Amino acid sequence: MALAKVDKIWMNGEFIDWDDAKIHILSHVVHYGSSVFEGLRCYKNVRGSAIFRLQEHTKRLFNSAKIYRMEVPYSQEEVNNATIELISANNMEECYIRPVIYRGYGSMGVNPFGCPVDVAIAVWDWGKYLGPEAIEKGVDVCVSSWHRMAPNTFPAMAKSAANYMNSQLIKMEALANGYVEGIALDTAGFVSEGSGENVFLVNNGVLYTPPLSSSILPGITRDTVIKLAVDMGMKVVEERMQREALYIADEVFMTGSAAEITPIATIDRIQIGSGRRGPITKKLQDTYFSILLGQSPDKFGWLTPVTIKSRQPVAAR
Ligand code: PMP
Repeated sequence: MALAKVDKIWMNGEFIDWDDAKIHILSHVVHYGSSVFEGLRCYKNVRGSAIFRLQEHTKRLFNSAKIYRMEVPYSQEEVNNATIELISANNMEECYIRPVIYRGYGSMGVNPFGCPVDVAIAVWDWGKYLGPEAIEKGVDVCVSSWHRMAPNTFPAMAKSAANYMNSQLIKMEALANGYVEGIALDTAGFVSEGSGENVFLVNNGVLYTPPLSSSILPGITRDTVIKLAVDMGMKVVEERMQREALYIADEVFMTGSAAEITPIATIDRIQIGSGRRGPITKKLQDTYFSILLGQSPDKFGWLTPVTIKSRQPVAAR
C-alpha cells in the first residue's frame, strides 16, 4: 500500500521530519535482518482517539528485543509516551503505528554487538489491510506451500523482521495464484498462521485456534478474540489443527492488528460454511469494534486515550 506522508517520525528520542528519517546503508539491520517491531492502531472513537492495547504491544516489542539480546535504551513507559506524543504531534485521529527496534550503524559482520540499538516510531494512515470489503464479505485464501519456521530456528514468539522473509514467501505465492492471503502449516503439517494474521475456526459454536507451539506469533488480536469469546460464554480451544479441519469448519476467520477480524470465504477454492461472514464471526467483530470505537465500555482496559487538536465526527463502519 502506498504511503501517505505525515509530518514527524520519532527516532531515538527526537521528532524528525518524515523525509529526514533515514538510516545508513551499512546499518546492521539492512544486511542481517536485525530488527524487531510492532504494528498497532489508534482509532477515532465517540469520546476522542485511543490506541488499542498499547501496553501489550510494547510489552511484546520488548520481549522480541529480549529474545534477540537487544538492550533497549528506553523503558516501555518511554516508548508508550513517545507513541502518544507522536500521534498528537501529527494530529492523527486514526492511524497505524509502527515502532521498530533495530541494530544500527557501527560495525559489519554477523556479530551485532558492535552496533547501537536504535528505536523509531512511525505513524501513517492505513485503511483495511485485506481490502475495504474484506471485513464483511470475507476473503479467498490458500494453504501455502511454504511452512512456518521450525521451532528453534527463527523464534516465532519474536516479531522480528527476519520472520517476514518467510511471510513474504507466503504472501507473494498467494497473490501470484490469485488469492488475498496464504495460511501456512507448521513443520509438523498442522495449521500455523497467515503471513500476518492468526487463524480461528468455529465448529458447532466452539472456537478453535492453533496453540503457540504451532509456530505462531502470540497475536494480540488473537488474545482479544479469545477474551471476548470467553466473556460471551463461548468455549475456546487452543489445539493443533489439521489442514482439512479448515475446509469443513462452519466459519474461519483471521485476526491481526492490521487485518482486524477478517472472515474467510474460501480456502483453496473450497467454500467455507455459507461462503460469507458467519454469525459468530460477525458477533465477535461487532463486539471488537464497539469496544475500540468507544460504543461499549472498555471493561478490559484496552484503550489509551490520545489528545488530538482537530476532530471530525466518527465515520460509520
Ligand atoms: N501472525 C503474524 C505472522 C503477524 O505478522 C501478525 C501481525 N502482527 C499476527 C499474527 C497478528 O498479531 P496481532 O494481532 O498482534 O497484530
